[in-house]
Amino acid sequence: MKKTVLLSRSSESSTETLEPPPSSASLIGENDEYVDPLKHPSLSLLTQPQADNRPHIRVLHGGKPKFVQSERSAAFRTQFFPEATEMQWNDWHWQIRNRVRDVQTLANILDLSTEEQAALAAHRGSLPLSITPYYLSLLDRIDPQHPVRRSVVPVTAEFRIAPEESGDPLGEEHTSPVPGLVHRYPDRVLFLVTDFCSTYCRYCTRSRMVGDAKSHSCDRQQWEQAIAYIEAHPVIRDVLISGGDPLTLSDDRLEWLLSRLRRIPHVELLRIGTKVPVVLPQRITPALTRMLKRYHPLWVSIHFTHPEELTPETAQACNRLADAGIPMGSQTVLLAGVNDQVDTMKRLMHGLLKIRVRPYYLYQCDPISGSGHFRTPVEKGLEIIQGLRGHTTGYAIPTYVIDAPGGGGKIPLLPEYVVGRDGQDLVLRNYEGNTYRYPAYHQSSCQGGNLS
Ligand code: SF4
Repeated sequence: MKKTVLLSRSSESSTETLEPPPSSASLIGENDEYVDPLKHPSLSLLTQPQADNRPHIRVLHGGKPKFVQSERSAAFRTQFFPEATEMQWNDWHWQIRNRVRDVQTLANILDLSTEEQAALAAHRGSLPLSITPYYLSLLDRIDPQHPVRRSVVPVTAEFRIAPEESGDPLGEEHTSPVPGLVHRYPDRVLFLVTDFCSTYCRYCTRSRMVGDAKSHSCDRQQWEQAIAYIEAHPVIRDVLISGGDPLTLSDDRLEWLLSRLRRIPHVELLRIGTKVPVVLPQRITPALTRMLKRYHPLWVSIHFTHPEELTPETAQACNRLADAGIPMGSQTVLLAGVNDQVDTMKRLMHGLLKIRVRPYYLYQCDPISGSGHFRTPVEKGLEIIQGLRGHTTGYAIPTYVIDAPGGGGKIPLLPEYVVGRDGQDLVLRNYEGNTYRYPAYHQSSCQGGNLS
């Protein structure tokens, strides 16, 4: 049965600044004092607040909004957010203001299963429910097993903690010289600049901190400390800005950060880790890309999960980034029942190449607390890589890795292509299962050779 109603909690002018949602609107985390990064008082000294005071949607061409809207999301908007105009829908601030955070609103859109209802009623603390209206439009309304739905709607299985699981499986807290900075590899650091995401993934490696109002990763003093550490360590040539999702920061705050980092002579490379082009593609505005391209070389790693995320909206967001000269890679977590089939992964990787995103990493799901229902055997990941290698474009094949628990870093995993040795020959197996010999190179055999 279709549900109608509803839901334009905030149909205000798009020129308004982003306000934290009323706490009464949320059952999940309703007691938390949520501070939106776009309004965080500790950042007020970082920049002039001009970005939040300007109109966010200004440019129309021939009466049409610049940002594409697929038929699917247009139909969803009409049914569930009937008061929202197309301009508001395409305004990323409107999307964040109207993100769904409470069980009643979600239940007006989805037929919630018993499992989902129980999880939503019991959830407290970090990793709250939050889904942008745009991303919600991608979910199946009836089927709780729908892969995209499973990745963002809680179920009770996430409360079951296995002995091998941990809130910080990568040991990031132990390799953090100053708050918000992880220095695990010698020449690069991970800079956690916010704990906020517009949409929370239920398998998030940083579930211990994201969406947690008590976290202070957006604190100005913390940013300054982290920047001072990077300045004091000339060995650091690469800074990965992550969180939370850094692209939920305003243009001004992001630019302040990028310009500070770019002024450090030994920082060669800046990278941003984000899921925004997937869950909030409207955020990739021309103003944002104009600003980002001032800080090249700048790379963006995008977190994709499933081929159904490859919509016209996401394609436009990625094309805008690519047109700004920003190289993009994808990072995908292997998830049971979501994307653990060769065909699913192949469709995702092919779609990514079409929007100029290079598949980068396929991660074995980290043993975070309550992740048992998402984790697959390692053999499943190897099967997927074997199903890709040789069967499709090499660019479409990500590196399958385990991020070693305890802070050991990424360890690549490959199916067995080396069968063994036969005398001096290496015996190899190709993608069809046929074996081939490679005459192994030996210095001595060359020395005796005749070059004349
Ligand atoms: S977007 Fe990234 S940081 Fe945010 S919840 Fe998802 S996995 Fe975690």
